[in-house]
Amino acid sequence: MENESKNFIEQFIDQDIKEGHCRTVRTRFPPEPNGCLHIGHAKSILLNYGLAQKYGGTFNLRFDDTNPTKEKTEFVEAIEEDIRWLGADWEDRMFFASDYFDKMYEAAVTLIKKGKAYVSDLSAEQIREYRGTLTEAGKEDPYSSRSIEENLSLFSDMRDGKFADGEKVLRAKIDMASSNMNMRDPVLYRVAHMEHHRTGAKWCIYPMYDFAHPLEDAIEGITHSICTLEFEDHRPLYDWVIREVGAQMTPNPDEMPPRQIEFAKLYLTNVVTGKRYIKRLVEEGIVDGWDDPRLVSIAALRRRGFTPESLKLFVELCGISKANSSVDYAMLEYCIREDLKLKKSRMMAVLDPVKVIIDNYPEGETEYLEVTNNLENERLGSRTVPFSREVYIEREDFMEEPPKKYFRMFPGNEVRLMNAYFVTCNSFVKDENGVVTEIHCTYDPKSRGGNSPDGRKVKGTIHWVSVPHAIKAEIRLYENIVDEEKGVYNEDGSLNLNPNSLTVLRDCVVEQNLADAKAYDSFQFVRQGFFCVDAKAEKESEGLVFNRIVSLKSSFKLPTT
Ligand code: ATP
Ligand code: MG
Repeated sequence: MENESKNFIEQFIDQDIKEGHCRTVRTRFPPEPNGCLHIGHAKSILLNYGLAQKYGGTFNLRFDDTNPTKEKTEFVEAIEEDIRWLGADWEDRMFFASDYFDKMYEAAVTLIKKGKAYVSDLSAEQIREYRGTLTEAGKEDPYSSRSIEENLSLFSDMRDGKFADGEKVLRAKIDMASSNMNMRDPVLYRVAHMEHHRTGAKWCIYPMYDFAHPLEDAIEGITHSICTLEFEDHRPLYDWVIREVGAQMTPNPDEMPPRQIEFAKLYLTNVVTGKRYIKRLVEEGIVDGWDDPRLVSIAALRRRGFTPESLKLFVELCGISKANSSVDYAMLEYCIREDLKLKKSRMMAVLDPVKVIIDNYPEGETEYLEVTNNLENERLGSRTVPFSREVYIEREDFMEEPPKKYFRMFPGNEVRLMNAYFVTCNSFVKDENGVVTEIHCTYDPKSRGGNSPDGRKVKGTIHWVSVPHAIKAEIRLYENIVDEEKGVYNEDGSLNLNPNSLTVLRDCVVEQNLADAKAYDSFQFVRQGFFCVDAKAEKESEGLVFNRIVSLKSSFKLPTT
């Protein structure tokens, strides 16, 4: 691969390998098990796993469970499932930061012995006050001059539960005048009398993220610790921890210690990505759980009918950058269309049915017509579709008084029933409210297969479903859940929800071949888009329920480079 086609992370890695700092690449994905993963995490997973693959290295899954307040075992399992579904393989390398609590404690003791950490009695508020501001240096912590012996004894008392939450912390001794606020004696350990989902009551002190994360990377021999931009200002602290205590923990002492590299988070227009926001939608009952198809959690995308391949394509098109920006949701839709268009059969479904009766077709007869599954991919072969005297068509495909350029069904007009016959509308029946209830046609038996018998042409082609063979289905159509142009939030703090984000159509019909469709099966429905069988509805045996993944129309154009 030429250098130009490589992203900046790959260029760093190439350089590290060329200069002999490392032999290979070892990456990790470090989720905090406090919520479900979303499309932004998918980017991080595919990036980290992709690098490991590209360089013949390894990829670890590591749960960053250093904060026992929010972590839940259920999220651990959901996260594993999501990553597996994406196709990222951690083999036997699934780790938990909490497995390293003993080593982290030892590292803190080492820092104290080196005179690089001290126990402070300042409250969280005082620590904030003493820290100073961006323009003013901080003040020395009055406890920073404690002796090593006193610090060792106090720190072990912290571990032994002799202090209440917030009474004491362990701080790094770095530089209260640093221009980087993160270097002004950051807190390394805090007291928290809390049960941990894995270590139970063993610990009542827990390491802070900025101390724990570099140690986790070092212990696992991670070469490139890839994270998002908000950690850029933390890199000096990351490097400090590695230099002071991390480097000696790595299993590969002949290689460079882990190197942190930051990239921009993925943001999408008109969707909610932040875990906190999604949580709020779930907790307020606005959506049907973490996997509601309007969300962009990985579970939701899977339920909606997105594929791992489509997300891979999406992540590739987004590229890796150092500048924050929002990607158009339409690009995600483009990717799923691209992935499905050659893979899926084009089936017939009628979302808003009205009955057509073909008066000159024999009563009680069924014939099976051959239909090509995908006109662009002949390898998908063909199927047979039952046809009979009565068929459903879309209500919008008939008009009593058509405007100009309306080529579908109207009295006196001949159209093609797709793959079936030419039919001409003769009359129709309305109920007392003026709603059309049935349409009467005659067909031309010589036009079987929808082929013109004599060269005469019809302008409209209409899809249909045979009435006696029709399978009832519910179809759910989606729009984005928030209107970002108006802002995600209203002035009163409520979410700016799109009232049309979900439309449920309960009286749809689909062709008989879909009777056995299973959860996650997806299809193209003629003219309507791509649809996927809803897994949750199937489990709750609500009958066939399809989610629209994406419509067929797109205004999205790939940027030309
Ligand atoms: P959120 O802000 O959505 O709650 P988080 O950063 O708190 O996400 P973590 O579980 O801590 O979630 O993240 C695990 C990894 O995923 C981190 O390395 C983080 O940098 C990365 N990540 C999180 N959000 C995004 C995003 N939008 N784009 C790319 N990577 C992301
Ligand atoms: Mg986080």
